[in-house]
Amino acid sequence: RELTWRLERALENATVDPLTGLFNRRQFERRLREEAAHARRHRRAFSLVMLDLDHFKAINDTYGHEDGDRVLSHVAGILKSTLREDDTAFRYGGEEFILLLRACNAKAARLVTERARVELHQRPVALGGVLKALSFSAGVAAAEEHNEFMTAEIVARADAAMYRAKRGGRNRVEIEEALEAAAQSMAKSAQ
Ligand code: GH3
Ligand code: MG
Ligand code: MG
Repeated sequence: RELTWRLERALENATVDPLTGLFNRRQFERRLREEAAHARRHRRAFSLVMLDLDHFKAINDTYGHEDGDRVLSHVAGILKSTLREDDTAFRYGGEEFILLLRACNAKAARLVTERARVELHQRPVALGGVLKALSFSAGVAAAEEHNEFMTAEIVARADAAMYRAKRGGRNRVEIEEALEAAAQSMAKSAQ
């Protein structure tokens, strides 16, 4: 029983980020490979959302690392509470998170992320005795019928969309350009 307990703890340490309780980057890499294999074999869509907190360095610099960590836990809690059972949130790096949304196209992924964005903005955190509203910028990439379930470079695609959200003013969600273009041409041909 002791051995089982130790094995379970070791496994947890290897897959879970201790600060937020979210799965870590290593676990993300593994889950992404599985999801990509499923997408191609079973023609099952999935979306990947890259999320980065806005102006997080200023929070750390102004209020200190402990408050910064508290903010990260707060964000993780919101992400967990907005996701369905089939979806997973990961802590990808310092203040970067990834959502892996199963059987979810880009349009639905944008709605889910938008919900989390609004939720975060509406639940401020006490920092230095004052309530502060927080925000993230996010980019959505998807493996779906539009792109024949393309999974290559999906992290880089989501990242590029996230940077567009930053450049566009932050506190917003952008979708990868190829999907945006496909959606627009579909809308045009439907007119
Ligand atoms: P932007 O809106 O462009 O994303 O600005 P930013 O300040 O969020 O971005 P930048 O990449 O310059 O800063 C990220 C900061 O996140 C740097 C570091 O202070 C902080 N950070 C990274 N990991 C941790 C962590 O584990 N705990 C805490 N408290 N802070 C962290
Ligand atoms: Mg960052
Ligand atoms: Mg940031």
